[in-house]
Amino acid sequence: TVGGKAIPTKNLREVLSQVFGFPDYRGIQRQAIASLMQGENVLALMPTGGGKSLCYQLPGLCRAGTTLVISPLIALMEDQVAHLCQLGLKACAWHSELSPEEAQKLTQAMQAGEMDFVYVSPERLTTGNARILLRKIPLSLIAIDEAHCVSLWGHEFRPEYRALVRLGEWFPNVPRIALTATADLRTKTDILTCLNIPQAKVYESSFHRPNIHISVQMRNDEKHQLLGILSRHKEETSIIYCNNRKKTERLAAFLSEKGWPAIAYHAGCSAEEKKRKLAFFRSGEALVVVATVAFGMGIDRPDVRLVVHVDMPDSLEAYYQQIGRAGRDGGPAEAVMLAGSEDIAQHHLRLYNSAYSSSTQGESTRQRMRGMARFAHSTECRTKTILQSFGEELAEPCGHCDNCLSPPEMEDITQECRMALSTVYRTGQAFGMTHLIAVLQGKKNANILRYHHDGLSVFGLGRQKSTFYWKGVLRHLLAIGALDYDGQSGGFSLPLKLGGQNVRPLLRGELPVLVNKHVVTEIRP
Ligand code: ADP
Ligand code: ZN
Repeated sequence: TVGGKAIPTKNLREVLSQVFGFPDYRGIQRQAIASLMQGENVLALMPTGGGKSLCYQLPGLCRAGTTLVISPLIALMEDQVAHLCQLGLKACAWHSELSPEEAQKLTQAMQAGEMDFVYVSPERLTTGNARILLRKIPLSLIAIDEAHCVSLWGHEFRPEYRALVRLGEWFPNVPRIALTATADLRTKTDILTCLNIPQAKVYESSFHRPNIHISVQMRNDEKHQLLGILSRHKEETSIIYCNNRKKTERLAAFLSEKGWPAIAYHAGCSAEEKKRKLAFFRSGEALVVVATVAFGMGIDRPDVRLVVHVDMPDSLEAYYQQIGRAGRDGGPAEAVMLAGSEDIAQHHLRLYNSAYSSSTQGESTRQRMRGMARFAHSTECRTKTILQSFGEELAEPCGHCDNCLSPPEMEDITQECRMALSTVYRTGQAFGMTHLIAVLQGKKNANILRYHHDGLSVFGLGRQKSTFYWKGVLRHLLAIGALDYDGQSGGFSLPLKLGGQNVRPLLRGELPVLVNKHVVTEIRP
């Protein structure tokens, strides 16, 4: 039997085919597994769907003892446990939602050494008697899933993961494997430090997903743009990501009205509602899910053909992970992002209202947000740009993103950048986008008159340019760090101040600024 560990450790291949039903390893699986079998620590980076679970499940099964898997989400644990049980293995999830009776039954089975796999949340591991109990049973290895959660630089930092730095102390001589589908260069190094596995073998799969076609549009008429994009994907399954719950409801209602099979999914849905909607999503019916990022980890439907971001995510890592949910069957899939200024302001507002705004974490968040905006404005191959941020070089441009398919025209906005910065400066670095644009366009509204901004030298200097144009210029200045949001005062329209990058040469007009024409030119869909 498998539960009794009757498998000889050398027959990895046999277990691979007989228990898991795979004829061969995929990508880095073989190397990662070999290292663990030799007792080495491992960091494995593979894109979503790459086959991370096998990297710990196979060696866990082939080494003596129980495999401990640390996972951040109950839903994820339960998926994995169900899968392992289907394979005839003994697995359980040990978390806070178990009844006392269930928990007791589990701990008894664990102590009797009957479990092949125990999934546990980091909270469970760091509180109560979990560690004491686990130290009494032989462990084959420890897997840390979604390992990027340990890093402040990552986009899904979870404080509970911090305690995992002591795993080596708690369970000496048990090899550890950290797994993640998302880590830029800095996050990678940070994971090794934060999990105290500096000598770990690092194995990386390519993150390139050649079947995903990426494009970016500037947002002008969101609903209209969305319908245009969706019309290329009738009778198919799509995910539309929004940055807030209300918007998911609103857009789902709008799409239903237009005849699309749309549902909204967010963290505010009841547990029962979420379950029902997930089941529907998994059923294979064509569906448009309008969701927040709560629709995330563990989402596994192979035939999603389209992922739209109607709001910009707050990092390129998050973005790439989310579009990675498209085309998991290898078939062609599309990822479209709408980029605007409101989403950047919202991210900043959220950041300023959080506890960590002024910390290192806050600064890293700001850097990631700038990176996201630069990506939206970029004229380079989208795929190449993203892979570069993961430290991966694509030899050639991808050939199928928007910038590859139709090389963007450039627009010189050097003078306008100068006017915009000067307006920020002359109004005392205390006003938001709307007011700054009103000054530039020479609008005599109540606020302008109240602050006597109609008397400024910059008043009306940009009269001939549209609001869309000016938003693009200001957003670009934010993206390159010449402007920054000032978190001191609240309100929705956050004031802009001069940033740390290149302000002087830009103010003197000495630094030419060329942007993708679509940043400042409205294209009516
Ligand atoms: P991840 O956790 O990296 O998102 P999973 O571990 O869930 O990925 O695996 C993704 C899919 O790949 C699963 O359907 C799994 O059965 C399949 N898979 C994993 N390893 C192999 C392999 N060696 N050969 C064939 N299919 C595999
Ligand atoms: Zn490209």
